[in-house]
Amino acid sequence: MKQHDGMYIDGRWRPAAGSGTIEVVDPADGRVIATVPAGTAEDVDAAVRAARAALPGWAATPPQERADRLAALRDQLVARIDEIAETITAELGAPLAFSRTVQAGVPIAVCGSYADLARTYSFEETIGTSTVLLEPVGVVGAITPWNYPLHQIVAKVAPALAAGCTVVLKPAEDTPLVARLFAECVAAAGVPAGVFNLVTGLGPVAGRALAEHDGVDLVSFTGSTAVGRQIGATAGAAVKRVALELGGKSANVILPSADLAKAVSVGVANVMANSGQTCSAWTRMLVHTDRYDEAVELAAAAAAKYGERIGPLVNARQQERVRGYIEKGVAEGARIVVGGSESPREQGYFVQPTVFAEVTAEMTVAQEEIFGPVLSIIRYEDEEDALRIANGTVYGLAGAVWAGDDAEAVAFARGLQTGQVDINGGRFNPLAPFGGYKQSGVGRELGPHGLTEYLQTKSLQF
Ligand code: NAD
Repeated sequence: MKQHDGMYIDGRWRPAAGSGTIEVVDPADGRVIATVPAGTAEDVDAAVRAARAALPGWAATPPQERADRLAALRDQLVARIDEIAETITAELGAPLAFSRTVQAGVPIAVCGSYADLARTYSFEETIGTSTVLLEPVGVVGAITPWNYPLHQIVAKVAPALAAGCTVVLKPAEDTPLVARLFAECVAAAGVPAGVFNLVTGLGPVAGRALAEHDGVDLVSFTGSTAVGRQIGATAGAAVKRVALELGGKSANVILPSADLAKAVSVGVANVMANSGQTCSAWTRMLVHTDRYDEAVELAAAAAAKYGERIGPLVNARQQERVRGYIEKGVAEGARIVVGGSESPREQGYFVQPTVFAEVTAEMTVAQEEIFGPVLSIIRYEDEEDALRIANGTVYGLAGAVWAGDDAEAVAFARGLQTGQVDINGGRFNPLAPFGGYKQSGVGRELGPHGLTEYLQTKSLQF
């Protein structure tokens, strides 16, 4: 077991102020694989001071040079992709192939996209008689979750650095090891001291201290709606910028003209990926009543195939939470067609891939984010009914529409209250804005829209 001491502050690894530690557990077997320091308000303060001190220099660094550092960071991530994938598999439990292609591959693409954007983006525009300067917001406090641990770090740090902001990162306590690797890559990429700082620690201690710190100009948070609400309130009271990426309960709407077999198999794969721990997962499948039974059969067969392939959930608490939701689904009258709440293995935090049929729109399993490999299949009578059900939760993060042709799917998608919709199985685009309608959040990440979150405007009138 590796005992890490030190946090990355002001360009060097320095000991934590306190003596507390956090155990990092391999969710596949419950073994402690490492410890990291549990940062305190004192560590956060040191990191924010370093970020403030570095801000004028980095903000004044030409975008081309910032682009070069981001390109070097991308190259570092590429060079260490195996280590990154193995680390994420060890601390999160994701299967190694998924860790490599998605958990490591996507943030590499995103980091590269911000190297390109920093180089090509116009940080100045003309509006009538005004010249508008797009300037960095300042010091960013980034608080990230464990489910796509490197992606969520890069989706905040890369645009912040591209914009000329400096950053203090507080990663999730379950997955601090990949955050440490990331800090090593930042250092090796030649990013100046203080521009990026890492404080590991517990959410209610280090996370809270970061969100409340006067020296932070923008808090960017990804995680649960409960914590996001608190962070939003704190930021509002301090009149500072805030970006929130929260939960989801996205709908996969299969219209009657769709290729049902394809829509169901892609839909099941979408839910089971990362053991269901994806905020944008299409956890509600909406099927027309005439094709409902056929869809349930197809989904059951597709989900059953994930039994051996699926990784564990991140920790015992998430496992208990998901099993609790499965029991609640049964208690409220939904029918399990595959899976169930019993643990499939003696060791590790595994949950069976589970499909519920006869789910109605108001049931808990159709309303709340479960964050596990659980799909709810809901019946609709006509398109109006489908739209009402699809929009009938507090969330609006993602979704899918399947139809005989794209135009029909797009017409339906226009009515959806959600931030992203995949049309007939459209592919992930790392440049497309990602973020929520309604209680799924405030703000957008990725691509040029993600960059503007870290910019503020100054208008010069002539
Ligand atoms: P969480 O919101 O508690 O944790 C996310 C991050 O916030 C972590 O870094 C954590 O340390 C930090 N944090 C926790 N309390 C804080 C506080 N008071 N002040 C500042 N920072 C704080 O999420 P979780 O407990 O890890 O997961 C719980 C649920 O959240 C999941 O079941 C899921 O529904 C949801 N979730 C959503 C996403 C997403 O991508 N939208 C990601 C992870 C979890």
